[in-house]
Amino acid sequence: MIPKGYDIKSLTQNELKALIEENSHVIDEKLLEAARSTREQSYGKKVFFRGLIEFSNYCKNDCYYCGIRKSNRNVRRYRLTKKEIIDCCITGYQLGFRTFVLQSGEDLYYTDDFMIDLIGDIKNRFPDSAITLSMGEKSYESYKKYFQAGADRYLLRHETATKDHYHQLHPKNMNLFTREKALYNLKDIGFQVGAGFMVNSPYQTIDHLVNDLLFLKKLNPHMVGIGPFIPHHDTIFANEKSGTVDMTVLMIALVRLLLPKALIPATTALGTIDPYGRERGLQAGANVVMPNLSPTSIREDYSLYDNKICTGDEAAECKECISERIRKAGFEPDFSRGDYGGYCIANVYP
Ligand code: SAH
Repeated sequence: MIPKGYDIKSLTQNELKALIEENSHVIDEKLLEAARSTREQSYGKKVFFRGLIEFSNYCKNDCYYCGIRKSNRNVRRYRLTKKEIIDCCITGYQLGFRTFVLQSGEDLYYTDDFMIDLIGDIKNRFPDSAITLSMGEKSYESYKKYFQAGADRYLLRHETATKDHYHQLHPKNMNLFTREKALYNLKDIGFQVGAGFMVNSPYQTIDHLVNDLLFLKKLNPHMVGIGPFIPHHDTIFANEKSGTVDMTVLMIALVRLLLPKALIPATTALGTIDPYGRERGLQAGANVVMPNLSPTSIREDYSLYDNKICTGDEAAECKECISERIRKAGFEPDFSRGDYGGYCIANVYP
């Protein structure tokens, strides 16, 4: 049972703000307990695995916080070939992974035709696996083509749901309206959709966090990625402070209470700012981990922020290490597709 005060779906904007303020230094154990039991009602103790393939670090965007932003000349840029991407999937499949997350900067080298061919090929080889894309903003038509080719899910964090704050984090040619529209388009097409935001990003206030929660309540996505902001040395935010574990964990717990069935990762960024950050995320209601399947030779080049963990580990080592940590924390590693709601929602389009 969720204690009365934690029925946060019915809280007003001001009440949400007060709740965040009250818990911003020490999180009420009862709130964490409520988040844990909500997650348990939805998914038991399962923690779903996703194999992450970072297939390109070229990006046409210039997001102020991101290490692979276009104007960073110090990045060694790479693109994986179709064969290299498929090889990552083969390795992942043999290790037991049944979801592949293909993530990249916004790289126009990968045309719609390339993606359709790639998605079709992965689906033919591994029909019992889900494909998640995370490659930024595209037109409705492009998203639709990817869905028709067999992609199941799409991750596109909204980053911040406050217009002014969005402009403080992004250059003028990007805007919140386009980002939100893309998320609604993805939902409309039929993807399982992931939104999300960074915690303690530069200029962020508690009012902004309240707006993030209210936006998520309205969008009602299937997945929510929440991680701390971490500075990257080659960005204008190089000297800003990293987000805190406490605030990130609080946001995970509140999103769990707001969206009981959401798939919420214990992110690599959370594991980067604290050696037990991911465990604390799981204890607060997260239920997904995303170990890296990218070739180790390029891992360091996909640096969105400094000191990212696990860049040297082979996929198999990552799988074992994370599985063990999950078991130690009292949860069960689960290698099924792990669709929203706990039942298979395979994309069988058309
Ligand atoms: N190009 C894709 C993938 C972006 S990378 C897209 O636009 O969706 C995935 C996520 O990493 C971003 O959405 C952002 O929230 C996060 N990220 C980027 N830079 C970061 C930083 N410095 N600290 C923490 N998270 C960061």
